[in-house]
Amino acid sequence: MKRKPKLGQNFLVDDRARHAIVDALGDVSQRTVIEIGPGKGAITEILAGRCARLIALELDRELAPALAQRFAGQPQVQIVEADVLKTDLSTLIPTGETADVIGNLPYYITSDILLKLFDAGVAGLLDRAVVMMQREVADRVAASPGVRDYGLLSATAQMHARIDNLFTLPPGSFSPPPEVYSTVLRFEFAPRFEALNVDAAGFDRFLKQSFAQKRKTLENNLRAAGYTQSELSGRWPAGIARQARAESLELEEMATLYHALRGEA
Ligand code: SAM
Repeated sequence: MKRKPKLGQNFLVDDRARHAIVDALGDVSQRTVIEIGPGKGAITEILAGRCARLIALELDRELAPALAQRFAGQPQVQIVEADVLKTDLSTLIPTGETADVIGNLPYYITSDILLKLFDAGVAGLLDRAVVMMQREVADRVAASPGVRDYGLLSATAQMHARIDNLFTLPPGSFSPPPEVYSTVLRFEFAPRFEALNVDAAGFDRFLKQSFAQKRKTLENNLRAAGYTQSELSGRWPAGIARQARAESLELEEMATLYHALRGEA
């Protein structure tokens, strides 16, 4: 079976790490767990005996049937040959229930997978996810406002979930070794839109506009997005510096600005 680098195939071979990843999900004995990219089953194998139901989505046409055959005697495990990005997660979860997600992600589509998980979190489908990604991406996802790595990905992620940075693995934990270090993050889905009194679609758009160009101030990014000078001057909240960059503001401040510019404050 040929490895497919295009599919981000770096298989976990560190036994302690694969147990630690599964342990990080907590007690899943009553839970449905969705695994993204099970590959050769490093995580699947441990999880299969711990959760009520495991649905593993694998795109590779050779790996998926090989796994399905291996787990054929375990009816609680379902191996689905599918592209996670083209899969409607709601169809995998029994109506009225929630699921958890686990995965050593294919790094070439990390952001797209995260955005998909955030949407599923807003839809009330997911409680928790433990996912491994390239260390630099994890650092951006978990960064706090004001630090170098903070940006749109951090703000978006932190609007959707509480995030714990669990541990980092060197390239040698994988076969073949990737060129980067890898970090495991845990997401507890808890969308903040309601608490900040903002609509999800409108506020997501506002964040994209605010972070559009890193070298620009927030005000200049918003002007470029179509806000008029009179809206910006007349409605800018007193507590936020006119020269501020989106990267320096807390999400509460971004919500205050969002309301003010809509004439709601
Ligand atoms: N979980 C295994 C492990 O830890 O050894 C494999 C991890 S490997 C980094 C990523 C896996 O995701 C590969 O098996 C790859 O074939 C699969 N994959 C890549 N793109 C995918 C997609 N769009 N949907 C589902 N699986 C995908």
